[in-house]
Amino acid sequence: MDGTTSGSAVPGSAVPGSAVLESAVLDGNAIGGLLIEVFGTEMTTAVGTCGSCGAVSQVAELAVYVHGLGTVVRCRACEAVLMTFVRIRGVTCVDLQGLASLS
Ligand SMILES: [Zn+2]
Repeated sequence: MDGTTSGSAVPGSAVPGSAVLESAVLDGNAIGGLLIEVFGTEMTTAVGTCGSCGAVSQVAELAVYVHGLGTVVRCRACEAVLMTFVRIRGVTCVDLQGLASLS
């Protein structure tokens, strides 16, 4: 019986990068280019309705959080997630589940 398990290969160096950017709140204008890329048209002036609280506001006025894995757009009234953009293998995937309407 050999009770030893080899589970080495633990890197001794600190992980590069920090979480500083995750606390930065931007607005919809920050993702204007991304929106054009996804929707093919200018969307910052589009009006979205929050599916959670019903607040109506222009996309440019929404709270945008840029994370390492993607971009999250939240309602400024109730902070519900309205839109999520995640880039996977060069393709931007969009999730608009939090929006009641977008026009
Ligand atoms: Zn809301």
